[in-house]
Amino acid sequence: MADILNSLIEIMGERGVSNNPEEIWFYGRDPGVLPPSPPDFVVAPKTTEQVQKVVQMANREKIPIVPMGNGMSLTGLVIPLKGGIVMDMKRMDRILEVNEKARYAVVEGGTSQGMLKAYLQDNYPHLRHSLPHAPPVTTIAANVSLHGQGRLTHQYGFNSDMVSGLEVVLPTGDICKIGSPSLGPYWFSKGPTLPDLSGLFLGWLGTTGIFTKVGLKLYPNKKMRDVELFVTDRVELVSDIIYKLTHLEMLEDITAWFQPKPLIFKDNYHINIYFTGDTEEEIEFKRKMVWDTLQEYIDAKDGGFMGVEYMKPGLLEMPGRGVAAFADVPRGGGFEYSGPITLIEHFPQYAAKVVEMAAKYDVIYASAARIISGGHSMMFSISFAFNRADQAMMDRVKSALDESTEFALEMGGIPWKPNHMEQKMTMKKMDPNTLKLLQMVKKNLDPQGIMNPGNWDLAQ
Ligand SMILES: Cc1cc2nc3c(=O)[nH]c(=O)nc-3n(C[C@H](O)[C@H](O)[C@H](O)COP(=O)(O)OP(=O)(O)OC[C@H]3O[C@@H](n4cnc5c(N)ncnc54)[C@H](O)[C@@H]3O)c2cc1C
Repeated sequence: MADILNSLIEIMGERGVSNNPEEIWFYGRDPGVLPPSPPDFVVAPKTTEQVQKVVQMANREKIPIVPMGNGMSLTGLVIPLKGGIVMDMKRMDRILEVNEKARYAVVEGGTSQGMLKAYLQDNYPHLRHSLPHAPPVTTIAANVSLHGQGRLTHQYGFNSDMVSGLEVVLPTGDICKIGSPSLGPYWFSKGPTLPDLSGLFLGWLGTTGIFTKVGLKLYPNKKMRDVELFVTDRVELVSDIIYKLTHLEMLEDITAWFQPKPLIFKDNYHINIYFTGDTEEEIEFKRKMVWDTLQEYIDAKDGGFMGVEYMKPGLLEMPGRGVAAFADVPRGGGFEYSGPITLIEHFPQYAAKVVEMAAKYDVIYASAARIISGGHSMMFSISFAFNRADQAMMDRVKSALDESTEFALEMGGIPWKPNHMEQKMTMKKMDPNTLKLLQMVKKNLDPQGIMNPGNWDLAQ
């Protein structure tokens, strides 16, 4: 251990590495419900070369290495299940380039969502990226590594679909560029028309390499945004309402949510409909299209628009803070969610399951489905809040989440940012030849099994 510490200090300098108990304690846990597991060392690189050298050393010595952004993914993805090194990427936070006309940015592997948002606001206010509702300190590289979703996911797909190039340090230490940057200085495409190698890394939760640079597509930031809130008490109509709204092909984002508290929301299903425009005329035209589309439900007395003037600032906030506020409903500020990707037509079954789980495990729920890629699927979040000081409540939330994942798999859904146990459940259900293919990829990329071991554990 002393030799390894010395090697790390040689690469990182004294200030870039630690095995102090305070740090080890901190880096061994995340804000979700899974138990902690301490690393042996924490490193915080500033350069790609440092990342490379640490990885080369870890590969040589067969030491686990866990890339970490801000550790807010909630499902234990940066808890070092097998000890070793946590690599905190936050000091690699430079915004390297914005190509205004080609609408992309290139950022380092620890750049936070908030930093890019602020930089664009200050320098390119007509451009934006797909912000998740996660706290602004969370990182862009981590988000695409777990196929995150954000405000523009309804229009353009997962945030990982918006990647426009990658620089990856492979588990062997080789530095590899993916997409157009492998051919020249431009970062406009991660794949087409080359074979799309980004799939070897995106969604792998840091188990096949460490992103040191990410190219990210930017999109027009229209001058105005607005929101309408449609409410129905008939859950069986929600999928149909969403289908009609997606058919308009003009909305920024659609989320459908329900929660029992405060009482004003109980027993109703709420659909937030976001739209943008550069002029009042564009906004009012879109509003009218939304109203006209949903008029039939109003005529049938199946729903109506809710006045949202007083809620608008909160609804339009980016990132929204509603989720974090929910975490404090039982006091003690904890929440965790399972968010399977699934068909929109399954909304009623998922909604019934959430209510069933909350009653069975005596926990508080809130659910919000975000529509992906114009309606091909949704991320259905099954969120439970808990008091961090109440271990029994945390255990009940964990059981409820496990059961929700089993249900999602039974329903043909795909777990999102699954914890290591949910990954095992997923691999068990998977077509055996697909699993074999995953095993081949992982074995070839990471022959020593050092990258975030315990996650996508394909060696079994
Ligand atoms: C209140 C709240 C709201 C949220 N809302 C959303 C939301 O709307 N949309 C959404 O997508 N998520 C959401 N999340 C979940 C999560 O916070 C985000 O997905 C966030 O992007 C995770 O970033 P992080 O830096 O904290 O990731 P971490 O937890 O640090 O890492 C996540 C994964 O990425 C890997 N990783 C980290 N850095 C790298 C790298 N440089 N190279 C390779 N792999 C790496 C890690 O090993 C890990 O597997 C929310 C979380 C909270 C607490």
